[in-house]
Amino acid sequence: MTLRKKSFWFTAVVSFVLIVIFSVLTIQSFNYFSMGTIREQGRMAAEMLRITLTEQMRTGVIEEREMLLKRMRTIPGLVDVRVMRGEPVIHQFGPGKNGEQARLDMEKRVLATGKWEESLIAVDDAPVYRITIPYIASSTGTLNCMQCHDVPEGAVNGAVTLGFSLEEMEKSEALAIVPIVLLLIVFGLALGYFLKRLLKPVVATAESLRGVVVQAEKGDFSGRITAASSDEIGEIATQTNNLMDTLEQSMGKISASISSLGDRTSTSNNGQNLLTHTVHVVDEMVGAARFKQAVEDDLDLDEIYARIRRVMGEHFELTSFSFYSIDGETEGLKPQFVEGVEGEAGLWCDPEILVSPQACRAKRTAGCVSSINNPQICSRFCGGEQKHVCIPMMLSGRVGGILQVVMSEDDVQRLPDIEQTASIYLNEAAPVIEARQLMQSLKDTAMRDPMTGLYNRRFLEDYIEVLAANTIRQKSTLGVLMVDVDFFKQVNDNYGHDVGDQVIKGLAELLKNTIRTSDLAIRFGGEEFMVLLPDTDADGCMLLAERIRKEMEGTQFATPQGSLKKTLSVGIALFPGEKSEGFWATVKFADIALYQAKEQGRNRTLMFESSMWDEGGEY
Ligand code: GH3
Ligand code: MG
Ligand code: MG
Repeated sequence: MTLRKKSFWFTAVVSFVLIVIFSVLTIQSFNYFSMGTIREQGRMAAEMLRITLTEQMRTGVIEEREMLLKRMRTIPGLVDVRVMRGEPVIHQFGPGKNGEQARLDMEKRVLATGKWEESLIAVDDAPVYRITIPYIASSTGTLNCMQCHDVPEGAVNGAVTLGFSLEEMEKSEALAIVPIVLLLIVFGLALGYFLKRLLKPVVATAESLRGVVVQAEKGDFSGRITAASSDEIGEIATQTNNLMDTLEQSMGKISASISSLGDRTSTSNNGQNLLTHTVHVVDEMVGAARFKQAVEDDLDLDEIYARIRRVMGEHFELTSFSFYSIDGETEGLKPQFVEGVEGEAGLWCDPEILVSPQACRAKRTAGCVSSINNPQICSRFCGGEQKHVCIPMMLSGRVGGILQVVMSEDDVQRLPDIEQTASIYLNEAAPVIEARQLMQSLKDTAMRDPMTGLYNRRFLEDYIEVLAANTIRQKSTLGVLMVDVDFFKQVNDNYGHDVGDQVIKGLAELLKNTIRTSDLAIRFGGEEFMVLLPDTDADGCMLLAERIRKEMEGTQFATPQGSLKKTLSVGIALFPGEKSEGFWATVKFADIALYQAKEQGRNRTLMFESSMWDEGGEY
C-alpha cells in the first residue's frame, strides 16, 4: 500500500474512531446524569409522599390517601404511584385497601430487604423508569415512626413504587445530543483535515524521494525534490538535493575526464546507466593500464603478441581471433596468431592479404572494418555468415597491426563493446610494440652488414656464447668455415672498388643460397666470410665448403671491362676441437687452415689438422 493511501486510511480511521468514542461517551454521560436526576426525583417524591401520608395519619384523614395518589398520578411524567404495606404494618393495622399489597417481584424484594430497587420497563412501547423505595421505621429524624407503629427500629413499614415516563426525557436528550454529535463530526473532519495537511509534505517528499532515487539508480542524477515544508522533512529534501548536486557534478567531471582521454577509451554509454558505464570504463582503463605495465616489462615482441593473445582469450573471452603484425618497411602482414577455420592457410581471410597487404581493408583504410551493420563490407573475409570486426593498431600514423575478431550471429551483440575495449588495449600496447620494433631494427642494423645484409662480427660476438653452449649441451659439432676470395686486391686494383663491392655482394648471395636455413653466414671482415654449420661433422663441412668453392669458381661477374671470374679458399675447423678448446680457438684453427689453403695455391678447401699448428704457435 502506498504511503498516500496509508495516510488517507490512517486519517479516516482515527477521525472515525474519535467521533464514535466521543459520541458514545457523550450519550453515556447524558444517560448517567438523566438517570441520577430521575432517581433523585423519585426519592424526593417518595419522601414527600411518606411525609404527606404520615401527616394524614396523624390528622386522621388517612382515608383520603387514595385521592392523594390519584392526584399525584395526574402529574405529567409520573405514570405510576402506588403505596404498599410491609409485614409489621399489616400485622398492626391489617392489609389495608386493595392495591396496598406488593405485586411486583421487585416490590416484594424491597419489602423483604429494605433496600431500594429500580428498573427500566416499557409500557405501551414507551420507556418507563420504575423505582421502589422502602419506608424504614425510625425513631429519629423528622418523624418518630414509633409513635404510631409498634415496630422495632429498622423494620420495613412499607414501600412506594413510582413510575416515571422517560419519553420526554429521551426527546430532550436527543435534542441535546444531536448538536453535540454534529459538533464532534465537524471536529473529526477538522482533525482529519489537519492530519492530512500534516502528512501531506511527508507523503509528497517520500514520493519525490523515491522518484529521485529510482532515477539515480539508473545513473541519472538530475532529479530534485521540492521542499514541501521547512521542518525536518524540508531538510531531507534539501540534503537530498545537495547530495544529487554533488553526485551530478562528480559524475559529470569523471565522465568529462574519461571523454578527454579521447580515443583511448569509448565514452558513449549507449543510453546505459552512467554510473555502471563509468565503473565499467574505469575498470577497463585499470585493466588496460595493468596490461600496458605488463607489456612494458615483456622481453620481446613475441612475448607481447603472446600477451595480447592471452588477454583476448581470457579477458574478452574470445575464441576466434587473429592478429597480424605489419612490418614498417615491407608493409607486409605477418600472422602472429590465427585461430580461424581450417583451410585457406587457417585464415579467416583471403590469403592474398599476406602477399598484397593493400588487399586488407583495415590496413588500407586504417579504420575499423565491421560487418555487423554492413555484411559485405570486406570482400576478402572468408567467414561466410560469421560477423567480423578488424581493428587496426596504429603506430605513429601507420597501421602497425590488425586484430580480427570473428563471432557467430548469436554473440554479435558483444562485438561493439569488444571493438571499443580491445582498441583501448591495442592503443596501450602500440607505443611499446613500436619501441620494441625500433629497438629490433636498430639491433638488426648494428648486427648486420649493410652492404650484404649478412650478420656481422658484432652479431657473432653476441650470439656465439649461446650457440657454443647449445653445441656442447647437445654433444654435437659446429663446423666453422673461413672463406676468403683469392687475390681480391687485384679486383680493386684492376676493376675498381665498385666491381670489388659487386664481387663481395655476389659472394654473399652465393653463400645465402648455398647454406641451409639453420646455417649462418657472417661477413667477418673485408672479403672474408665465416659460415657456421650447426650439427655438422667434418665430412658435411667439407661437402658444403666444396660446393661453395665450386659455385664461386663457376660464377661470372659482369664488369664494364667484361666478365670476371674469381676463386676462393676455405679453411675448416670443428668446434669443440680435440682438446675442447674454446670457440675462438676454433676460429683461429679455421684461419690456419685457410692460410694453408692459400699457401698450397688457393682455390681449395682445407680441414684444419693439428699438424698445421706447432706447439710454439708457429705455422
Ligand atoms: P689473398 O689471396 O691472399 O687473400 O689475397 P688478397 O688480395 O685477397 O689479400 P687480402 O685478402 O688480404 O685482401 C683484402 C683486400 O680486400 C684488402 C682491401 O683493400 C679489400 N677490401 C676489403 N674490404 C673491401 C670492400 O668492402 N670493398 C672492396 N672493394 N675492397 C675491400
Ligand atoms: Mg683475399
Ligand atoms: Mg682477405
